[in-house]
Amino acid sequence: MKSILLLIHTADDGGLGKAALESLTAAQQMAEGMGGLELKAGLVGGAIQPAAELLAGAGVKTILGVESDACAVSRYSTDARAFSEIVKAAGADVVVAAGTSRMARCMPGVAQRAQGAIDTHISGIEPSPDGLKARRWYYRQRMEAILTRAQAPWFLLLSPGAFVPYSGTSTAQAEVQRLELAETGSRTSVIGVEEAATGAQTIKPEAEVLLVAGAGWSKKQADGQAHLDQAETLILGFLDKAKASLGSTKSLVDQSGEGHAVLSFMSHMNQVGQTGSSPRHAKGLATCCHGEEPHVVGWRFINQRRAINLDPSCGWAQGKADVLYVADAFAVMRRVNELL
Ligand SMILES: Cc1cc2nc3c(=O)[nH]c(=O)nc-3n(C[C@H](O)[C@H](O)[C@H](O)COP(=O)(O)OP(=O)(O)OC[C@H]3O[C@@H](n4cnc5c(N)ncnc54)[C@H](O)[C@@H]3O)c2cc1C
Repeated sequence: MKSILLLIHTADDGGLGKAALESLTAAQQMAEGMGGLELKAGLVGGAIQPAAELLAGAGVKTILGVESDACAVSRYSTDARAFSEIVKAAGADVVVAAGTSRMARCMPGVAQRAQGAIDTHISGIEPSPDGLKARRWYYRQRMEAILTRAQAPWFLLLSPGAFVPYSGTSTAQAEVQRLELAETGSRTSVIGVEEAATGAQTIKPEAEVLLVAGAGWSKKQADGQAHLDQAETLILGFLDKAKASLGSTKSLVDQSGEGHAVLSFMSHMNQVGQTGSSPRHAKGLATCCHGEEPHVVGWRFINQRRAINLDPSCGWAQGKADVLYVADAFAVMRRVNELL
């Protein structure tokens, strides 16, 4: 093998986002572990110089780039062309990139154009002078596989959060080999990016704590009544005070589709589990959630797990949580919010 190529789309300010910094760590580990292979980088964006200087400071000597207004936004046609040109010019055996939504969209096409192979959701690497092994989970984190491939170039999209972000800050003068994209026109105009409307609307990967709300919040309580308004106040109060991320069970988010009264801020974007997401957080607290396998399989990357449930034999009690509070979540969360 000759070289590793790290592909990055720059952030709006021309620098490197967190996922890109994680991919730099992984690429450095690969280059070093595979017997000191050359590490090259390819940058695409509206501005690329700040990222190039940081990469040069990290010791990357060969940097190729496409800098244009057309590449300032995520669009399959322009991204696929820009990254393909870089891959062709760099001629690497292994191509590594962060699995951001922008990369996940264009990289399979880039791999196809390069007649390479691609694997996504890579959560670990084992580089050695004999070659590279990559780890990924299958069947929603129930099985882990170790992959090798003979086909080159081998594209690896890394799971965000799986590698420690590169923390160096020194910069160096960067000689960027700039590639021009032929203007062939594009049928897609990007008119803007819409962020999630409120802090509660999506899972926030940066938060230390994940609060999961289950269907129990909308069920009749000991007084024979449901208390959705109280549930909303308690959940939003905790999110605000603990700067926590909000997850949900499928049952709770499905209720809106079935015409039941629901927590107004919940959507399927919050769903954790087999048919939802598998977020990464240091701690998780499941409330009014039964802890069934198709839900808990989404907790693979939550380090410390706690749950509050009235039922002492709920799923969390079957070895799925570190701590189970057998208690009324309304009372516990009211007290937790007071303490916070
Ligand atoms: C193919 C397939 C895919 C699936 N994918 C997913 C998925 O991605 N994510 C997912 O979440 N589910 C998924 N499910 C559904 C999953 O099996 C469960 O049905 C779901 O997780 C149950 O949600 P729940 O725990 O919120 O609700 P319930 O099972 O209704 O549990 C509510 C809980 O709240 C407790 N409770 C009520 N009031 C209180 C209170 N005051 N204090 C404390 N506790 C209280 C009750 O004791 C009960 O345990 C999937 C199912 C299938 C078949």
